[in-house]
Amino acid sequence: MKVADDKTIVREYFNSTGFDRWRRIYGDGEVNKVQLDIRNGHQQTVDTVIGWLKDDGNLPQLSICDAGCGVGSLSIPLAADGAKVYASDISEKMVTEAKDRALQALGNSENTIFAVQDLESLGGSYHTVICLDVLIHYPQEKVEEMISHLCSLAKSRVIMSFAPKTWALTILKKIGSFFPGPSKATRAYLHREADVVKILQNNGFSVQRQGMTKTSFYYSRLLEATRK
Ligand code: SAM
Repeated sequence: MKVADDKTIVREYFNSTGFDRWRRIYGDGEVNKVQLDIRNGHQQTVDTVIGWLKDDGNLPQLSICDAGCGVGSLSIPLAADGAKVYASDISEKMVTEAKDRALQALGNSENTIFAVQDLESLGGSYHTVICLDVLIHYPQEKVEEMISHLCSLAKSRVIMSFAPKTWALTILKKIGSFFPGPSKATRAYLHREADVVKILQNNGFSVQRQGMTKTSFYYSRLLEATRK
């Protein structure tokens, strides 16, 4: 029997049970306690990125690629603040949901373009490339390729988040909460910060700002790196 690769598993997951689960987590309706904890943690990560970009004071001048945009949790507020956002995701269902949310939040704004596309096949050139909470779905060797590709698309800056390996034991104990029961269709991979920083450096980037979100069930290390 052929074993499906990580990307196929992830795509299928986010077009089926994963879509239902994450659309609820990334929404404002009623969810269980674990999902509420993850929702709050994820919102902190999103808010940190928005805070950094707003502090810089040049959002309306920026072209931003949001790779693995999910339901648009980051793309939509950035577009509302004037950035031009190219938002893409491997899951057609996530992109459809993101488009609906953008229409509700922004009307017929021209600040967003949505596309169903895996990040490995993205082309173009953007001031800032952002990839939040996507690398957790891929093993180290794949992540190296993915980060290098994202760097190649960025004129000035990349911002990415990942589940740090230092929290391994804690996360592994709780991992069932990320993908519980029948929706346990994909693994969660942890990454060493030193490895991620090395990949960024090898691609000509150096880390400027860092963030860490840690709640009971959500761990995300956030790095901003700019071209040297
Ligand atoms: N970045 C969004 C956020 O923080 O709100 C969504 C995070 S969600 C946990 C992970 C997303 O990554 C899913 O929408 C999934 O479909 C997408 N994804 C996974 N692998 C991908 C890939 N290779 N290329 C593009 N998107 C991918």
